[in-house]
Amino acid sequence: MITPPSILRLDNLLPREPLLMMGAGPVPLPSRVAQANSIVINHLGDTMAKVVDQLKKMARYVFQTRSEFLLGVAGPGSAAMEMAIVNLVEPGDEVLAVCNGYFSRRMAEMAGRVGGRVTIIEVPNNQTATLDMVDKHLRSGRYKTLTIVQGETSNTVHNLHLPQISKLAHSLGCAVIVDAVCTLSTMPLEMDNWQIDAVITGGQKGLSSIPGVSLIAFSEFAWHRITQRTAPKSHWCLDALLADQFWNKGSYHYTAPVSGILALHEALYLVCDETLAQRFARHDVCSKALQKGIQAMGLTLMVPESVRLNSVIGIQIPEDISPDRVRAHMSAVHQVEISGSFGLHIVRVGQMGEQCRAHNLFRTLHALGTSVQHEGVTLDLPKGLSEMERWLTKDFDLTHVN
Ligand SMILES: *Cc1c(COP(=O)(O)O)cnc(C)c1O
Repeated sequence: MITPPSILRLDNLLPREPLLMMGAGPVPLPSRVAQANSIVINHLGDTMAKVVDQLKKMARYVFQTRSEFLLGVAGPGSAAMEMAIVNLVEPGDEVLAVCNGYFSRRMAEMAGRVGGRVTIIEVPNNQTATLDMVDKHLRSGRYKTLTIVQGETSNTVHNLHLPQISKLAHSLGCAVIVDAVCTLSTMPLEMDNWQIDAVITGGQKGLSSIPGVSLIAFSEFAWHRITQRTAPKSHWCLDALLADQFWNKGSYHYTAPVSGILALHEALYLVCDETLAQRFARHDVCSKALQKGIQAMGLTLMVPESVRLNSVIGIQIPEDISPDRVRAHMSAVHQVEISGSFGLHIVRVGQMGEQCRAHNLFRTLHALGTSVQHEGVTLDLPKGLSEMERWLTKDFDLTHVN
């Protein structure tokens, strides 16, 4: 007989409080989101139908779309990504994948796995994708689908020309899949106006909900392709027409992640209440202020300002010290968690949703500065903190960022 293992209570495993999650996600939860996440109700029936109906209305606002074809996914942002790919890409389809880094490459890999013939456009590090890079390919008329990321979290580059690239592709009959996992609700994204055919997002980033429940919106063009498709779909859970049963017809596909849906409802409510315009301004001001503070302290940012993402900041760490040791010190001494990177000599600080609050920025900048100094590099910490304060209050009412 196998005996019960000896297990520590969760209290003995969890990090010390007050913990501050300032990495590339998950991000801190507003209390009403956390509260909603602790509730379980019937996954079918009147109450759930009302919750789903409101959630979709709010998501349409956040995606800036009038599309009817909005679905949730029980799974990470990557599951929403896979849902876009497995429904829109058929075996043998030509797919153009704009790759800036780790996450945009994930879409290319998924497209290949379902039998797509993938052409990768490699965007050099620190650069944004341009219309020029895709123009010739798109005009060849070969491509049925294009994949692109709005903000590449891995190297903190913003694909500024997404609207032009999307419009061109769509006008040539090529469906456009956009990964907005880290950027949604932190900067403008206009699904309808930019003629995007599928937008995906996760919960735990810009929206400040829990990880594990994600959203996807398909355009009418995309939905038509899905309903006309004859090739069998390889993924049952991610089949959009089955998911439609729950998300639009009030019936059963799989048991929906009830608590996570309630949490997402509250997170979206907070976005709608703040309004997108105000939320974008908060992200702009907070991220800019933190960037200025980091630079004034004596550190260098990874990406040139014109293409720098404001939802995740990449910070170069001096050659002779280890980014992992800086992060370990921040975590152990200050209980502030930030992210490393995939092979680059940087650390990354998230600027998504609840991370963009003045008190979180001060705590993070202080922890980062003292932890870099602890590794033996001298910085001007007071200058960094005062510069951040100056930018936070420059032309913004500080009540908006608290
Ligand atoms: C985090 C992230 C993902 C993956 O999201 P998961 O929830 O970890 O699957 C995909 N794309 C981008 C741009 C991201 O930032």
